Amino acid sequence: MALPFDRLVIATGNAGKLREIRQLLSPLALEVLPQSDFAVPEAEEPHCTFIENALAKARHASMHTGLAALADDSGICVDALQGAPGVLSARYAGEPRSDARNNDKLLAAMADQENRHAHYYCVMVLVRHPEDPQPLIAEGIWQGEILDTPRGDGGFGYDPIFLDAKTDKTGAELPLEIKNRISHRGQALSKLLHMLERLQ
Ligand code: IMP
Repeated sequence: MALPFDRLVIATGNAGKLREIRQLLSPLALEVLPQSDFAVPEAEEPHCTFIENALAKARHASMHTGLAALADDSGICVDALQGAPGVLSARYAGEPRSDARNNDKLLAAMADQENRHAHYYCVMVLVRHPEDPQPLIAEGIWQGEILDTPRGDGGFGYDPIFLDAKTDKTGAELPLEIKNRISHRGQALSKLLHMLERLQ
């Protein structure tokens, strides 16, 4: 049996995320399209939980394109900061959004902290149509810690200051294929992939 849709819009404007999602969904017979192909206006992300924001973004993209849509919401949660930056990760240091300023702000907030533990969190939501009563939902968590100086020049966002607990490398030092396998987004996507395979 085929999937109930053959085109999927990815509700993100972030080229790094789009690349990761495309690569991870490549085993499926799906045309994966960025929402920029449809001039979807940017969605509001007013909620205080990742799941509510992801659902709002997926519905918004589906409504504007008439297609099934996949959205993620993700961020970094630091134990010593009660889970901040959390849903505000992308705009932690305010507008205009800047990875460098976000990283500087986080390093400053962590300057006197002994507990460096943090995790990336990602939730993926796929709606088949805007009123889908039963979205597919998958989440992933990547454990690590916040360094006091950046390392590596790959990845994006907080990757240069996020040390993977298992490999002792930062997100910016890991090759993309490895990051995709172990990351919060990789874990969420592989769960979603299994859900989609069961629909086939
Ligand atoms: P979103 O686009 O609202 O999901 O915001 C996610 C934000 O969390 C990004 O802009 C980054 O600041 C941060 N983030 C999420 N995933 C990653 C990652 O894999 N590496 C680095 N930063 C990430």
